[in-house]
Amino acid sequence: MIDPEAFSFVAAGLLTWRRGRRTALGREGPGMRTVARPDASQVARRYRDATPVSAELYERATRSLPGGNTRTTVFVEPYPFYFHHGSGCRVWDVDGNEYVDFINNYTSLILGHAHPKVTAVVERQLKAGASVAAPSELEVRLAEEIERRLPSVDLLRFTNSGTEATMLAIRAARAFTKRDTILKFDGGYHGTHDYAAVDVGAGGTGTETKNAGIPRSVAATVASVPLNDTAAFDRAVARHKDDLAAVILEPVVGAGGIITPEPGVLEHLREVTRRHGILLIFDEVISFRVGYHGAQGLFGVTPDLTTLGKIIGGGFAVGAFGGRADVMSLFDPRRPGHISHGGTFNAHPVTMAAGLATLEELTPETFDRLARLGAELKAKLDALFASVGLSARVNQIGSLFNIHFTGGPVTDNASVLAGDRQLQKDLYVAALGHGVAFTGRGMGCLSTPMTGGEVELFVRAIGDSLADLGRI
Ligand code: PLP
Repeated sequence: MIDPEAFSFVAAGLLTWRRGRRTALGREGPGMRTVARPDASQVARRYRDATPVSAELYERATRSLPGGNTRTTVFVEPYPFYFHHGSGCRVWDVDGNEYVDFINNYTSLILGHAHPKVTAVVERQLKAGASVAAPSELEVRLAEEIERRLPSVDLLRFTNSGTEATMLAIRAARAFTKRDTILKFDGGYHGTHDYAAVDVGAGGTGTETKNAGIPRSVAATVASVPLNDTAAFDRAVARHKDDLAAVILEPVVGAGGIITPEPGVLEHLREVTRRHGILLIFDEVISFRVGYHGAQGLFGVTPDLTTLGKIIGGGFAVGAFGGRADVMSLFDPRRPGHISHGGTFNAHPVTMAAGLATLEELTPETFDRLARLGAELKAKLDALFASVGLSARVNQIGSLFNIHFTGGPVTDNASVLAGDRQLQKDLYVAALGHGVAFTGRGMGCLSTPMTGGEVELFVRAIGDSLADLGRI
């Protein structure tokens, strides 16, 4: 823990950092540059100056963790800031720098940090005992709540991560269909288990997966096609259909750039999979946050199985998979030959309590408000980019958005990769200097404590950061 006195001392330093930068740039206001063009190395140097405690921690971490890292997603150059605490839509690092948090632990904190209702139920549950080798009423209530929101889910099971959820949904599909092959979409991210991590030449975005360590026999059972290319999909189905157990996709591509399927694509996948007895799995680990009934409700397409994670755990480690009763009954321990699915911390009572408290806050009106705020953010970013003549695209749906530095529409993985990904990374570091945290792949999301004020601040920070980088 950080000494509070040292903490406030460094916090004062941050103000100097931000003010200092403005004078160093010779700017009196956004866009009014009067001295030499700044660049990414200058921005990185300022980041280092403002985060000495994080730098020290990172250096220490390299001695006990590979590359100082235990979650690839949160590794950034030159080193990540280390978290101290969060409240509402703001977080503070160990150096006392304050950021408005547009990452929200990669979309999982939809109520922001330390929400009083979530904190209260978690405290209560901790005092009652953290976990026990028995089910609790909480898991029944959370399952019921999710099933109320997702009519396609008759039965579900909890896991500790989205990775386990997609792994087990795939396993269920294979067991049910007695087939082996899985078809997914280029750039789709489904976690870190072998089948999800197979890189079939797609090249992920920000979550690049490589085949090292994955048995060839596993890779041979996974195929991938570009999103929104129904002809390629049809060809892949024709090639594999006798052995195709499942088609898995994110109905809103999350880590791969916040891409929505073009009209008719999901319907096409639904029709073709049904015709061939292939299970359709919607991975809604991220997209469940786009609406009260998830992305499947928004698009009106019903999958056979759904995987969930992130927001349903209220900030704690969670996952779930569920769907058709005839498929999920394979896990019914009363049945001979059932699939065994253990997990010491499955349906952890603290997680279940936090998840329930979170979903209680998430009414249809809350989703509508977040979607309006998301649309406002997109409109303001579009206006900013147009006003400075920068080629950029903002993909947005509900509370999710992604800035891509490219001229054309971003509709699949290839168009994501065609954008200026270095600028996305540089922008991440530059925006920290303006009090905004979002991701190095241009993705961000909103939380319920945010208002138009935070949207304004974000757009201003992006403009100022691009100016810092000498890009506008
Ligand atoms: N599926 C999707 C769509 C995801 O975005 C993620 C994580 O970001 C996962 C699965 C894996 O979830 P977890 O990180 O909880 O294992």
